[in-house]
Amino acid sequence: MSIIKDYSLWEEGLRKILWAKRFMPVLDQIRKDYIDKKPLSGVNVAISVHLEAKTANLALLLKDLGANVYVTGSNPLSTQDDVAAALVHEGVEVFAKRGATEEEYFYHLEKTLENDIELIIDDGGDLTYLLHTELENLSDRIMGGCEETTTGIIRLKALEKEGKLKFPMIAVNDAYCKHLFDNRYGTGQSTWDGIMRTTNITVAGKHVVVAGYGFCGKGIAKRAQGLGARVIVTEVDPVKALEAYMDGFDVMKMEDAAKIGDIFITATGCRDVIRYEHILQMKDGVILANSGHFNVEIDIATLEEKALKKYEARKNIQGYVLENGREVFVIAEGRLVNLAAADGHPIEIMDMSFAIQALSSIYVAQNHEKLERKVYNVPGEIDRFVAGVKLKSLGIEIDRLTFDQEKYLESWEV
Ligand code: NAD
Ligand code: SAH
Repeated sequence: MSIIKDYSLWEEGLRKILWAKRFMPVLDQIRKDYIDKKPLSGVNVAISVHLEAKTANLALLLKDLGANVYVTGSNPLSTQDDVAAALVHEGVEVFAKRGATEEEYFYHLEKTLENDIELIIDDGGDLTYLLHTELENLSDRIMGGCEETTTGIIRLKALEKEGKLKFPMIAVNDAYCKHLFDNRYGTGQSTWDGIMRTTNITVAGKHVVVAGYGFCGKGIAKRAQGLGARVIVTEVDPVKALEAYMDGFDVMKMEDAAKIGDIFITATGCRDVIRYEHILQMKDGVILANSGHFNVEIDIATLEEKALKKYEARKNIQGYVLENGREVFVIAEGRLVNLAAADGHPIEIMDMSFAIQALSSIYVAQNHEKLERKVYNVPGEIDRFVAGVKLKSLGIEIDRLTFDQEKYLESWEV
């Protein structure tokens, strides 16, 4: 039995799902290619991904390919209750509610896993974590799975390194058609969507500080520049810092940037990137947002402890009055701003990420007996297929290597 907030919301949720579907040509192609073959026939699949319209399309595709699909969220603030209701209406079991407490959130994950799950689609490693701790007893049935995000893969590799990984996992994030587009352009656009729709303030002319110049940070910085902001990047990796500098951004330490910035965005996958000591240096009225995996990039815990007062400054914006009399504003409790304060990445981007999820799931179902308890890269042909279908849907044709060119590129002779 599903656990959702309100079944009566299904019609609005279905409209969202059908709208998203119009812009998902790659998922459509996979449906056409595999609908008769049913490569996931009878496989019990658990999905823990931000539960909104694009994710619903992934769930419905897997169902059409024969899977029994059980869906939960991957963040208590990103679940959209109308979409959850629509999925139930379409015959998918769902265990998720927006605004679930930490305890409820984990209960929903557990309920999802208690369905004889054989294949998992994880985003950040919450299902994987449970299958290696409290619900270890359910891990024997798991043939393998796929992980969506950078931080999840870091955790999987840590498990693998300690020899504790219990089933093979495909690193979906590391496919080119995932991180090049999703982390960079997806996070770039949707982070600003979240900040702008929540605050309604002007970006042009403001000092924007982006912490982390990885794939997400690059996208966020580039879009900030496009909106007319003066962009500062903070980094810990000298190569990335130099890259940011060569890309035209100011680079400095957070303690220096803290005094200058008007809007701060973290995208590092690390913790305590903006600490209370930095916050005390900031100007009155600055905005703090996080787009990295978890709500520990900004040290909200210390801010909560030390601030004289906390109040709801605007919907989804928490105002904190500091001991120095200044105020800072945090969007969506420091959780991923693009998902907790907007709809996440744009549809066409998730079409590619989820196409890789779907094809990697089929790959696991077909090859699990050969796979070891390791973290695997997405097979190169999946990346090329997704890019090829996407280009075709855009009406773009590209050149092909001639026979002579192929030979030339394979040869060591001049
Ligand atoms: P990445 O590894 O490409 O980049 C992270 C960068 O942060 C690196 O360059 C690293 O040197 C830097 N960094 C680490 N600690 C730092 C610190 N203390 N101060 C400054 N810089 C620091 O990773 P990515 O793909 O850009 O992902 C970043 C985070 O965003 C991850 O947690 C990932 O899971 C998450 N993510 C979020 C979304 C979203 O929708 N919001 C999408 C994709 C990934
Ligand atoms: N469990 C984490 C999730 C990491 S979020 C948490 O605490 O929130 C990062 C992932 O979200 C990215 O890899 C991206 O692919 C995914 N994402 C971004 N927008 C999305 C959307 N609209 N729908 C589903 N997933 C999305």
